[in-house]
Order: sequence, then structure tokens, then C-alpha cells
Amino acid sequence: MIGSFTFENLPCRVVFGSGTLAAAKAELERLGGTRALVLTTQQQEAQGKSLGIALGPLYAGIFPGATMHTPVEVTERALAVMKACGADCVVSLGGGSTTGLGKALALRTGVNQLCIPTTYAGSEMTPIVGQTENGLKTTVRDAAVLPETVIYDVDLTLTLPASLAATSGINAIAHAVEALYARDANPVTSLMAEEGIRALSCALPAIAAKADDREARTEALYGAWLCGVCLGTVGMALHHKLCHTLGGTFDLPHAETHTIVLPHALAYNAPAVPDAMVRISRAIGAADASKGLYDLAKRLGAKLALRDVGMPESGIDKAADLAVTNAYWNPRPLDRGAIRDLIARSWAGEPPSATKAAA
Ligand code: NAD
Repeated sequence: MIGSFTFENLPCRVVFGSGTLAAAKAELERLGGTRALVLTTQQQEAQGKSLGIALGPLYAGIFPGATMHTPVEVTERALAVMKACGADCVVSLGGGSTTGLGKALALRTGVNQLCIPTTYAGSEMTPIVGQTENGLKTTVRDAAVLPETVIYDVDLTLTLPASLAATSGINAIAHAVEALYARDANPVTSLMAEEGIRALSCALPAIAAKADDREARTEALYGAWLCGVCLGTVGMALHHKLCHTLGGTFDLPHAETHTIVLPHALAYNAPAVPDAMVRISRAIGAADASKGLYDLAKRLGAKLALRDVGMPESGIDKAADLAVTNAYWNPRPLDRGAIRDLIARSWAGEPPSATKAAA
């Protein structure tokens, strides 16, 4: 039965396909940009420079210094480069870290952003930016931060190693999973969520089997877009809060942490969200949604234990304490004992505790 709901469509233009990078110049012109600063990580600098050549007279320069967690000092250096080259817009070419830098610049200057994502993180679809200063990560939600235009080019994702595709893809699935039981869930976002989970859970094993499977890469990027929309449209809960806390406190890798924690966070919430469990089970083709997600990660060869990505055992209690401070909404009330248990299982890499999908 459909209840009452609120749905807000975020204003972002999406160009999707293969070879769509060629549209970058025209898309910048459409935005009224005259001098673009290209942003990349150090690893993707060469790609950024070739894009610069394609942009011709619109190319103002490149800042190849994007890094994880959007440190404020990096944003300040990029801001200085932006001013020095007289840029009036930015082009972010890369994963969530590069997108984050473009957003941080837009927050400070109001410039338009053309975003060209090359992972499945989904940040390009959200008006949210997380920034780090003095080791503390804070999150800002502001309409100015949402990229105006996003070009998804499947060709750019072909170089994403299968192991990164796996964890980045499950990171995307996590957005859709929590969207299905969000406090502000709505029928449109839920449709996108289920379809996003389906597309990614189909595509990721095919990519693991054959890294240059173009059809699978296309389906994965399509799924990542849908999951990104979910993240931008509705609020997240326990899983995202836990990953944010664990990542920030123990400096853990973003996508791998999401991959490890997701089955456990879902198992915790399962008794409170029977409808979401049915939809996730259906989307991944498994009898039990949380066990199915754990099996998917295992099948993809992803790490299954937080201890294997650098979390100390002594951190389990600290993480449990942090997870229940600063109360936030979650479909199942926060119970420190049960949350400690789920963190301990994630740390050890055990399967999620048994839950039943509602019939
Ligand atoms: P990332 O952007 O840090 O990229 C990881 C590495 O992969 C980088 O070295 C990058 O250069 C490389 N890479 C990216 N695409 C590649 C490709 N196609 N081929 C080869 N190498 C490639 O990782 P990420 O997981 O995309 O992003 C993580 C960051 O994004 C975190 O800081 C996270 O907090 C943020 N994030 C923010 C939001 C939001 O809404 N604000 C959403 C999701 C993620």
C-alpha cells in the first residue's frame, strides 16, 4: 500500500553512454563556462591532461592533487590554482575523492561543476560534501554542492581494476539498501534502489570474471548512477553512520569498509524492515538479503574482515560507543550490545547473524 510521501527531484543533467566524454566541451559551453580547471588525482593526471586538450580554448589548467576525505588544505591549494588561472568552472574527472574536491570548490566559490565519475561511489548525484580538517571529518549538505552536469562514460570505467570495481560497486549498493528503509523513503527512490541493486549484483560477478566485459561495465555504471540518486534523495542510517565512524576513527579505506559492514548492518536492521528485505532479496536473487550480500562480496574476492583493512581489535568497543552517541534515526533502535556484536562480527569476517526475509 502506498502511504503519503515527499519526493524532491534534484536538478542535475545526466549524459550516459560510451564515448560520452567527447561531449565534455559542449556540456561546458551549455553551462556557460569559459575557463575550466580540470581536477584529478595524481594517478589520473594524464587522463585529465588529454581531456584538457579536447577542451581546447575552454581549458584553463589542471589540479592533479585530489585525495581521500577532501582535506581542507588541499582545497585551499586548488582554490589558489583556480584563481591564478582565472577559472570560472571545474571539471572533476575521477572517483569520489575528485568529485569531493570539485564540490568543496563549488561550496566556496559557487562555480559550476561538470563531473565525470570513473568509480561507482555516487557522490556526483548528491548535494553533500565531507571535508577533513585537523583529522576531523565533517559533512555539509548544500544545494550549491550538487554538480550541474554529470557525464557517465563507460569507457573510463574499463580501467577500474576488478577488485576496485567490486568494492566500489558494493559501496553503491549500500546507498540503495539504506534508501529502501529510509525514514523519508518514497516509491520513486525505492524503484531506483531496487533496480540499482539488481543491476550491480548482476554486473559485478561478470566484471570479476572478465574485466573488459563492456556490457557488464555499462550495467554497473547504470546501477551506480541509480544508487547515487538514492544517496542524494533520501537519508541514510546505521550502515552509513558506522562506516563514517569507522573510516574516520581508524583511517580505513572507504569502499572496502562499506563492503565489509553492509551485510552486518542490514542483518541488524532486518527485523524492523521486512519490506526492504524482500526487495533486496529479490534484487540480488538470494533467499536472505544480508547473507546474499555477504556471499556476493565473498564471490567477488573482496575482503570480508575489518581486521584485514587495518582496524585494531581494541577498536571494537570504541566504535560501538561512537555508534550510539549523537543519536540519529535508524529503523531499529540503537542497542549498544547488539551493535558491538555486529562490529565484532565485521571485524572477524564472520557471516552476518542469521535473519529471515519476510515472506
Ligand atoms: P577514490 O576517488 O579515492 O579513488 C580511488 C583510486 O582509484 C584513486 O587513486 C583514483 O585515481 C583511482 N581511480 C578512480 N577511477 C579509476 C579508473 N576508472 N581507473 C583506474 N583508477 C581509477 O575512491 P572512491 O571510492 O570513488 O571515493 C571515495 C571518497 O568519496 C571518500 O572520501 C568518500 O567519503 C567520498 N564519497 C562521498 C560521497 C558524497 O555524497 N559526498 C558519496 C560517496 C563517496
